[in-house]
Amino acid sequence: LTIPELLAGTAAEHGHREAAIFHAEGVRWTYAEFARRVDRLAGGLLRLGVRKGDRVGIWSPNNSAWLLTQFATARIGAILVCVNPAYRPYELEYALNKVGCSTLITAPRFKTSDYVAMLNELAPELATSEPGELSAAGLPELKRVVAIGGTTPAGMFGFDAVCGMGDDTAQADLDQIGAGIRNTDPINIQFTSGTTGRPKGACLSHRNIVNNAANVTSTLGLGADDRLCIPVPFYHCFGMVMGTLGCVTKGAAMVVPGEGFDPEETLATISAERCTALYGVPTMFVAELGVPDLDRYDLSHLRTGIMAGASCPIEVMKQVQSKMNMEQVTIAYGMTETSPVSFQSDTDDPIDKRVSTVGRIHPHVECKVIDADGRTVQPGVQGELLTRGYSVMQGYWDDDDRTAEVLIDGWMHTGDLATIDAEGYCRITGRVKDMILRGGENVYPSEVEAFLYTHPDIAQAQVFGIPDPHLGELVCAWVVPRAGAMLSEEDVGAYCRQSIAHFKVPAHVRIKDTLPMTVTGKPQKFIMRQQMVEELE
Ligand code: ATP
Ligand code: MG
Repeated sequence: LTIPELLAGTAAEHGHREAAIFHAEGVRWTYAEFARRVDRLAGGLLRLGVRKGDRVGIWSPNNSAWLLTQFATARIGAILVCVNPAYRPYELEYALNKVGCSTLITAPRFKTSDYVAMLNELAPELATSEPGELSAAGLPELKRVVAIGGTTPAGMFGFDAVCGMGDDTAQADLDQIGAGIRNTDPINIQFTSGTTGRPKGACLSHRNIVNNAANVTSTLGLGADDRLCIPVPFYHCFGMVMGTLGCVTKGAAMVVPGEGFDPEETLATISAERCTALYGVPTMFVAELGVPDLDRYDLSHLRTGIMAGASCPIEVMKQVQSKMNMEQVTIAYGMTETSPVSFQSDTDDPIDKRVSTVGRIHPHVECKVIDADGRTVQPGVQGELLTRGYSVMQGYWDDDDRTAEVLIDGWMHTGDLATIDAEGYCRITGRVKDMILRGGENVYPSEVEAFLYTHPDIAQAQVFGIPDPHLGELVCAWVVPRAGAMLSEEDVGAYCRQSIAHFKVPAHVRIKDTLPMTVTGKPQKFIMRQQMVEELE
């Protein structure tokens, strides 16, 4: 199936059911209404001159226009380029030019970012050009900018006006374009989170993401009666494949709390909308569990959900089950390059497996774990995880060298360390790049982190290596204490020395209020590493 075929099928079957609820915006659409609005925008984009294969960037936090853009670009075979809402001019310029975006759809601002000002900084020509006739030295391929919301800035089209332009597009024209779309056509360029450095643009097809969305939600047991709360960013696979597209594969309702993540707003939305499922990365669940008087919120309809994106501490998993009513919560493991999910626990997996592993391999995907020489290891032995199957990306956009490094004979080299036991349950034990080599001993950050989490005053812990002239690398830790706790660097050191081998004990500990995070909520160790090195200089 292509994305337009999928939406048409769901709208025909579940037209009267709720498709999308944007709580903060006050938007509510049934599937019939949603499909109709997608067609209007698709028609409008055609009128602007957007064609099959053109790259259309979206640079905006979560909102209803984002959702329409996702499905409207697919409707006409254009390639949606998801731009991180936290990007600043330097990164925006890189992303848009890297993939040659001719159209950019943007919100006026988000948090402290003024998108319009940043765009004008990159392309001063914008303010004086006619909408649609941009020719800017800094963004040479960009022809048009569409602004979501209120007043339309100079040189741009208004989003609502573009939707209006689509009013008189004949259904037959859209269907004719649809007939020319193959499910192997690229439909989406997704940038990786940038946890380990500069993001890479993974090129994904309809086939990649529609099938993954369907498999993820099937494993989760999602059905047309479910109401899935999506506080994770749309711009990433978690939001736009597992979330929005996942709901469309089942006819379920997508419930979006607000533009960005706020734990209280998320809980209030779950309560008000009687959500049955919730997505999040571990740090989001930690924040939700930390909201005072959790009992104020009615979480009685919650049943299931997915925690993914980074390793999920067992304690957090247990609390999510007991305090948030998410008995059936599953863990998923994946990466942008594999559309994204390849491992997921089943809702009825034994509880110890569900809290301590990422489950078993998804249907129609193969996996293996290899050692440094490329040989497959025995069950239970750690090595690098490889996956292969329908979900593997076509490659990084315009970057054959980096593609060739990770994609070999169809196998995606994940860069993650893992073990798979005899029953097929997989444990992610860290990233190959993060493994610390200290004086001939391998130290696995995840192991030391898991130990630090056993300390009652530690809310978050991150362990990483920094270069050292004598030992090769030194173990370091950043620790965020629980609210109100008194915790010193010495306390943490002493706690470790008591119970773990000397070579794993962090040589340098720092107590911090927060951790550097990607917008997807992942701790960025490369930044912690840089800061630690600078501090010690
Ligand atoms: P970049 O590739 O730019 O450094 P990234 O790898 O974080 O960033 P993503 O594709 O968003 O970008 O994330 C995929 C990675 O997230 C995986 O390779 C893995 O390291 C981590 N990950 C995802 N799910 C889990 C999980 N359930 N447990 C542990 N780690 C996970
Ligand atoms: Mg990665």
